[in-house]
Amino acid sequence: MRRFITADEVRKAAREASGGEKAFIYAEKEDVVTDEARDMARTLGVVISSEITRRPCICANFKMNGGPGFMDKYAAELASCLAQFYPEYAAETDVVVAPPAPLVPVALALSNKKAIYSVAGQNCYIKESGAFTGEVSPYLLRECGADYVIIGHSERRKLFAETDALVAQKLKIAIDAGLTPIMCLGENIDDRKTAKTFAVIAQMLTALYSIPIEYSKKVILAYEPVWAIGTGMNASSEQIAEVCAFIRKNIMVKLGVDFSNAIRILYGGSVNETNALEIAVIKGIDGALVGGASLKAVNFAKIIAAFKTDARSN
Ligand code: PEP
Repeated sequence: MRRFITADEVRKAAREASGGEKAFIYAEKEDVVTDEARDMARTLGVVISSEITRRPCICANFKMNGGPGFMDKYAAELASCLAQFYPEYAAETDVVVAPPAPLVPVALALSNKKAIYSVAGQNCYIKESGAFTGEVSPYLLRECGADYVIIGHSERRKLFAETDALVAQKLKIAIDAGLTPIMCLGENIDDRKTAKTFAVIAQMLTALYSIPIEYSKKVILAYEPVWAIGTGMNASSEQIAEVCAFIRKNIMVKLGVDFSNAIRILYGGSVNETNALEIAVIKGIDGALVGGASLKAVNFAKIIAAFKTDARSN
């Protein structure tokens, strides 16, 4: 139910804030903040969560799919579908495409100087250069035009034994190279069945805490329950909201309320053109990481359009 945030509530939050921590009121998007409360919050330095807007980020993860011909058609089709479904998307959202590494420069060139989408790597190594056969330097990704890189995807954690310590190293060097990391985290089905979801998420968040705070500030998180990836079985809105709230609370305790409010959290796991709107309206979710459904430009465009400001506030 919609509630009114009053100046009294703001004063109370300010009184109760402990040890130099910024006072914080958690409000739903639809809650009404009275003018008096807003002024009072400004005067007393109280943060009201519903006042914070985070720009949606919607990222396509092609995984090991696609080639130059596919990319060529894809870029043109995405541009035309976005012009049709959501012409103002570039002003309101960050649209990112993560093709296989050799396609990064091709994808960038086809994006017409980033006018259609920005480009991401799907992974990078922990070194700038050297004898690391088969690995991709974050610096090279950047030089080839990538702005983002996906780090710690569950497929990499599972198939290539990536640990939280390695993820932390990758976050740091990616940022040094000038990339924005999209760090994936999520429980597997056994973790969920044995009520270990929060413990697993808290453990994975240690990668974010083990790098300097000025680095952590640049990270985007993607909550991706492993059991929902590529299975057609997306998590329910309640499950996503619950884990997202857990992540924000955990971050609030470790890095403070401002940080926790500012960080973007995407959801990934069988997002498609049919369920995207349901996901876009979940409180605290700021976008999507999309695998299978992103391979069809028209569907990816529909998913992006689900994050329209108007659609989400209805
Ligand atoms: C992913 O690869 O990150 C992903 C979420 O895949 P899918 O959308 O296919 O579940």
